[in-house]
Amino acid sequence: MPVMCAVSTRGPDAACCFMVSYTGAYTIICRAVAPWPLSGFERPSWDEYFMLQAELAKLRSNCMVRKVGAVIVRDHRQLATGYNGTPPGVKNCFEGGCERCIERMEGKIRSGEGLDRCLCNHAEANAIMHCAILGIGAGGGNATMYTTFSPCLECTKMAVTIGIRRFVCLDTYPENASKLVKDASASITMMDKEKITYWASRMPGGTKEVPVR
Ligand SMILES: [Zn+2]
Ligand SMILES: [Zn+2]
Repeated sequence: MPVMCAVSTRGPDAACCFMVSYTGAYTIICRAVAPWPLSGFERPSWDEYFMLQAELAKLRSNCMVRKVGAVIVRDHRQLATGYNGTPPGVKNCFEGGCERCIERMEGKIRSGEGLDRCLCNHAEANAIMHCAILGIGAGGGNATMYTTFSPCLECTKMAVTIGIRRFVCLDTYPENASKLVKDASASITMMDKEKITYWASRMPGGTKEVPVR
């Protein structure tokens, strides 16, 4: 279907124009005068992109108390993924596999209590074990861990051991490992949740879903 060129006076001319829909509405851009890069074109930053991957992993968590997702990244490439839950081959937490989580759901213990009896692996630990299982080297100190919750002390110990020097987190875990992070010359960045909410809204079914052509 020919479209009327918005800038030239040549009349209907599909050859010099193309349509873009990334803002949610179709706009005609004339190739002859398009301002490169296209204004209004948007995509997540690296940090946002990898946190979205962690959010995606979180959906697969089998723990009924809390859902967490984590990914390990080096040089803008995702090396490993993890979510929290009982070990493979053990009954899922939501199926009654973890006695401690049952007690927590029953209100018999408080948040943070009885963690030494919890059978659920942390998301960060599972991402680290993903590296171990598949023989992936996280590198000599330039890897980043994205996690939907700031890591506990135990996971932080393991993470800095495999070479993670940057943590990007969305929420704060009650246990504070910030001193270890500092001692290991690593850093923690807290990410703005609004940004993740925004990108989630652009996904299929979201409130600002990008139309598919
Ligand atoms: Zn659990
Ligand atoms: Zn942990």
